[in-house]
Amino acid sequence: MTIQCEYCGKYAGSIRALTSTPCIRHPLGPSRGYHKLYEGSEKAVYTCKYCGKTDKTISNLTNSKCSKHPNGFAKGNHAPSL
Ligand SMILES: [Zn+2]
Ligand SMILES: [Zn+2]
Repeated sequence: MTIQCEYCGKYAGSIRALTSTPCIRHPLGPSRGYHKLYEGSEKAVYTCKYCGKTDKTISNLTNSKCSKHPNGFAKGNHAPSL
């Protein structure tokens, strides 16, 4: 099982290690919360669940704002579907 963050794509050796360090791309703001486990499987291509944008890594996908974000236009980053 691959342990990585849903918000930023950071990899960790354990869930505890992942969720005990602040996430630079947390939805509430940089480092205003912890990394969150991505519960999907590792994929060759990740797809944004809001707009359908694809990228090879969660890190790249979540690096830009989503025009179809539920909070409003560009009010949050792309988010990988499971
Ligand atoms: Zn993160
Ligand atoms: Zn998107």
